[in-house]
Amino acid sequence: MAKMRVGIYPGTFDPITNGHTDIILRATRLVDKLVIGVARNAGKGPIFSTEERVAIVREEIAALANGAHERIEVRAFDNLLMHFAMSVGAAVIIRGLRAVSDFEYEFQMAGMNARLNPKIETVFLMASDRYQFISSRFVKEIGQLGGDVSHFVSPRVTEHLLHKFGDARKVAEAFERKIAILDKTAAKKK
Ligand code: ADP
Repeated sequence: MAKMRVGIYPGTFDPITNGHTDIILRATRLVDKLVIGVARNAGKGPIFSTEERVAIVREEIAALANGAHERIEVRAFDNLLMHFAMSVGAAVIIRGLRAVSDFEYEFQMAGMNARLNPKIETVFLMASDRYQFISSRFVKEIGQLGGDVSHFVSPRVTEHLLHKFGDARKVAEAFERKIAILDKTAAKKK
């Protein structure tokens, strides 16, 4: 029997967007099994915890209509990407490439990873036209300012964003109320 080809699609997925899901679907046509690696990536200051991001990606995968979900696994990782890729027996690392913006970073990362382990290839899938401009970063910015993100993420992710920013707003409002009370008390004392 031919050896099963395992691919790994690593990312921060903070949160997963329609652009990511498109890459996932296309990647499943290239590999027998796809491991989605959710990077802890504390340096990027994600708004969703690793556990939340993994759970949200799993929800998206469960909702895929084409049966591909049976060949997809979602896992968190916080070690070196190449070590994680080796530990899951991956033959390829899949990355998505949007016009211009991603090139330099991805080029460097692929080059470094090739040095670390030349047997594991990085494969780039060009972002589809309609998802070219979608980034998790802008989705978060738009969501935070109360804009409509439903063109960029699934209805499930939209809900998660609403909750996240709703909670953050409540905390900020409570904080402002507290400051106002403290100001009033201080003014009375004068
Ligand atoms: P990272 O922190 O590793 O860049 P991201 O979650 O931002 O994690 O992205 C994971 C991968 O998905 C990267 O290869 C990125 O270029 C790609 N990607 C992000 N958004 C899109 C999109 N709209 N279309 C195609 N690929 C994308």
